[in-house]
Parts: sequence; structure tokens; C-alpha cells
Amino acid sequence: MKITDKLAFEDAQIMARIAVGKFDSAFWFAAMQALKAAYKGGVSMAWFYCDCGYELDHPTDREILTDEYLCPNCDEDNSLKITEQDKAEAMGRILDRLEALEKKHV
Ligand SMILES: [Zn+2]
Repeated sequence: MKITDKLAFEDAQIMARIAVGKFDSAFWFAAMQALKAAYKGGVSMAWFYCDCGYELDHPTDREILTDEYLCPNCDEDNSLKITEQDKAEAMGRILDRLEALEKKHV
């Protein structure tokens, strides 16, 4: 999920925190309205947009680590959009799975 209006979202988060602290229902309502406004039109389930305009889903760990994140619409390789951080996280998830498997077999 992507929030395009980052500032509006941050404002809404701050308001929500204050509302929780105050237990104030009117403030809470205002915070929720602000949050909805921040999301309005800004919510997108696409992780990336290919140059052809196709909305790409989040790459799988395999697609991330094999540099084979291809657009199903035009076959363009979108691997360059995957950051080092994404790769590190994917590797971390795989190592977690391997460690869990190893524990099962001890
Ligand atoms: Zn494409």
C-alpha cells in the first residue's frame, strides 16, 4: 500500500497519537477524517509501475534475488527498481526460513 500524500498522512498520525493520549472522541474523529483524506486517491496496490503503465505486484523473494522481475504485460525487466534494501530483506526472509527448517530437523 502506498501513500502518495506523505505529509497529510504524517499529520493524521500525529493527530491520532494526541487523540489516544487525550481519550477525546471528537479529536479522534477528526484524526480519522484526516487519515481517510490522506489515503483518499493515494492508495495504490501497485508496488511499481512498469514503463508500459502496467501495475506490477510486489516481487517475490525469488524475483528479487534472481533479478528476474519481469513485467507480465511487456516483458520488460524491472529488476533495476529493486533496491539493495529489498534484496537484503529478501535474503533475511530466506535465511529465517532456512534456520527454521534446520531447527525442525535437529
Ligand atoms: Zn511493462
